[in-house]
Amino acid sequence: MTTIKQFLCSAAVAGLVAGTSTVAGAHVGMSKVTTDWMLAAEHVLLIGLDGVNLSKVLEYAYGDDSGFKTAMDQGVTGTATVINHTTLSGPSWSTILTGVWDDKHGVFNNLFRPEVYSQWPSVFNLIEYHKPEIETTIISNWEYLNQLADAGNYPVDNNIFVSAGDSPADSDGQVTALTIAQILGTADNPDDISSFLFSYQSQADHAGHEFAGGSEEYMQAIINLGTNLQQILAAIAQVQAITGDDWSILITTDHGHQQTVTLPGLSIGHGFQSPNETSSFVIFDQAGKDATDGTQNLNFSIADMTPTILSLLGVPLRSDFDGVSLTDDPTVLNSHVTPVNLEQALLSALAMYGYPNMGNEIELGFRTVVGSIPYFLDKFVTQIDQFLQGIADQDIFLISGLAECAQVINGFFGGLTVDVTNTLAHGVAYLLGSGVIAPTDAPLPLPPGSAEFTPSVDALLDSGDLFDATALVG
Ligand SMILES: [Zn+2]
Repeated sequence: MTTIKQFLCSAAVAGLVAGTSTVAGAHVGMSKVTTDWMLAAEHVLLIGLDGVNLSKVLEYAYGDDSGFKTAMDQGVTGTATVINHTTLSGPSWSTILTGVWDDKHGVFNNLFRPEVYSQWPSVFNLIEYHKPEIETTIISNWEYLNQLADAGNYPVDNNIFVSAGDSPADSDGQVTALTIAQILGTADNPDDISSFLFSYQSQADHAGHEFAGGSEEYMQAIINLGTNLQQILAAIAQVQAITGDDWSILITTDHGHQQTVTLPGLSIGHGFQSPNETSSFVIFDQAGKDATDGTQNLNFSIADMTPTILSLLGVPLRSDFDGVSLTDDPTVLNSHVTPVNLEQALLSALAMYGYPNMGNEIELGFRTVVGSIPYFLDKFVTQIDQFLQGIADQDIFLISGLAECAQVINGFFGGLTVDVTNTLAHGVAYLLGSGVIAPTDAPLPLPPGSAEFTPSVDALLDSGDLFDATALVG
């Protein structure tokens, strides 16, 4: 639904982005009615679905009862790829939530390092610094993301962590219920407070790791996610009918999944560069924009999420983003197509994704193998060697040999703490191109009275403190 009230608000926000107006200036001397127009709320919902293969969505959840289909019918869908970047959750969600790739943010595994988000502020930080009046919320059942939203000096307003529950599906059901409650809560919004909500579900990734992307369990997870999405979209329609405010919705995933399991209960799942692992997607429904509903864009990227969210909320973009705003970037707008059959068009786009060049594939594979050692050391101490043996046994060209090499490294690491091992792995990742590009924008200013940041690991690397350790494994 698009109202005049909403249209005027969008125009005002566009003016703010262009630097032609200010919020304070816009209010001076205006009538009550005009003020209401200017203060109409903007709501942006980012739905994160971990480890979802779009090919499986189209196969199992492209019926009218699925929220995937509803979302695609209401917005623009694009296949996307994370090729040439580490296909692990920590690196990819960091890209989604900072707007830069891993050669900048330097996240190479799933062990949370808060200093990353001081250098590369998250979408939460950027909103809370520039427009603290916007209500920001995260609802997630992966603690890493709740930690990310709390990192930096301008953390999220509402940080809601959902526990594992009886099952991943049960936990995602709780995320869905809380997300719906948060959406419906905006019906009671007398001050027209704008909001950004990030809602994250993970059952597809759990099913992929335990049973593989080609399993019936993965199929069921995709169907469940479609049901959850449908309920969330219905809640948005319900609240729109009350307030007249339109919502912008972004739906994306961080990586896909391999189709077969390597070891029972311990699938590698993802982390390497096969098309099933690197394929992603973005569904974007922009508030007030209905003309392109049900169509396709050939140039969406997961790095575009943060710039898009910021521009929708009238927050200035960083100059060192890798992503762009899907609302106004000319390259993106020129990549819009209206296929005869969206499902077929998306499958065709997916089929065009291949492997990166061999050098990148080897480097990224080794980064994943070494980065996984401290992660598994943290999670399942006894399973590291099993994990590496699984890769070695899989006979992946060159990567399997690297896994055998990593088993030797793992033996060397034996007895060291997770922190020390992760620092060593970080050194290796850095040598392989992770986090090598520094920000060109200044860091967000420290709030008055706050303590100095601790030096980043990158600073330690620059100082040469890590040289001896990384040389041992080089
Ligand atoms: Zn993931």
